[in-house]
Amino acid sequence: MSEQKTEPAARAAASVDGERLWRRLVELSRHGGFGERGVNRQAFSAEDLAARRTLLEWAAEAGLEARTDPAGNLFLRWTPPGAESGAAAVLSGSHVDSQPLGGRFDGAYGVLAGLEALLAVKAAALPLRRPLEVVAWSNEEGSRFQPGLTGSGWVTGKLDLETIRAGLDATGVTCGEALDSFLAGTPGLPQRPREEPIRAYLEAHIEQGPLLEAEGLLAAAVDTVQGIKWFEVVVSGRAAHAGTTPIAHRADAFVTAAALAAELRALALDAEDTTRFTIGRFEVVPGSPNTVPEKVLFTIDLRHPDAGRLAALAEAFAETCAAAERAGPCGVSIRVTSDAPPIAFDPALVQRIEDKLELLGLPRFRMRSGAGHDAMLLAAGTPTAMVFIACEAGVSHNPQEYATPEAVTAGARVLAATLAELGLEEG
Ligand SMILES: [Zn+2]
Repeated sequence: MSEQKTEPAARAAASVDGERLWRRLVELSRHGGFGERGVNRQAFSAEDLAARRTLLEWAAEAGLEARTDPAGNLFLRWTPPGAESGAAAVLSGSHVDSQPLGGRFDGAYGVLAGLEALLAVKAAALPLRRPLEVVAWSNEEGSRFQPGLTGSGWVTGKLDLETIRAGLDATGVTCGEALDSFLAGTPGLPQRPREEPIRAYLEAHIEQGPLLEAEGLLAAAVDTVQGIKWFEVVVSGRAAHAGTTPIAHRADAFVTAAALAAELRALALDAEDTTRFTIGRFEVVPGSPNTVPEKVLFTIDLRHPDAGRLAALAEAFAETCAAAERAGPCGVSIRVTSDAPPIAFDPALVQRIEDKLELLGLPRFRMRSGAGHDAMLLAAGTPTAMVFIACEAGVSHNPQEYATPEAVTAGARVLAATLAELGLEEG
């Protein structure tokens, strides 16, 4: 990195106001806040709309241009005085919707760190050639309406509005109805065209895992999102009386399923502890204490950064299930219910973030994401990378979620430095 480039990036980072960012995290968490620091702000709810209005107030205060789109995303743009006409913006953000039992950092941090970084670059009065823009993607979590990641899914062309609007919440409200009243709650916003080019996308997020804290680090560059495959396994036996049926005469779906679950897990685990294998649902039918189970359904959430390893494991799972069926006495079927391949972020952008860590006196560090994020959809067509900050004990999707003010500020400074550099580039 040349000296000319280092200097403006450091100036932008130094303009980050960590106290304002912290204050805004607390203020935003009042929308849907419960208990000591929990947040329930599900997509297109009254709380989500209130958060959107607060973001619009802060944008107006800073003189940013606000836009929306039919998917309910919110874009806040600053066009520097010297920007080349038609230059694509550098985009940064995340989401402000939360899980029902969420915290104040998951998503909201990326939006507010993006806003703080933009304001810092603006305050540093650098001769930027392209606009900077902050985005709050809609319905990332997918807890109220499935699927999730609908805002970034629509912008990147992976989801159409029909699919998004068809989602149904637990009370029978369609996503389309909720989205319409959400959009009506902030009337008059100009529309951002779906195809508008994006120069680069950066997303800051809490790690949602324990690694950074364990390493004693505040922030890191993220280079990959691991792939996720979901499976559903069904074991079919025969219901029988628990008192009168000799063991040898049973087709006990639980016994077969329990042995199979242990066998599949043993196949997946590796010495490096890279593979993630989770059986999160295990349903025994009919679920009566004195009946031999006739059916078991269980799910597997399998994650790994290498697509080849995921494919090999899927094949091994299928073979193992077929062998279990051949061995009898139960029928066994397995199917893939969801498949998201691993995503590699833009190597040059990842390197640039690592350079900024170093510039700010933090250790260089890169890691992969265990969770899915809007950034993984952006990565297909736009140079994309993420910045992770440490969170307490790796706790997330939990009201206890916490990140220190120090980590919160560090991530925003890395973001500001990177945004400044990207905004200064021509072409
Ligand atoms: Zn998130």
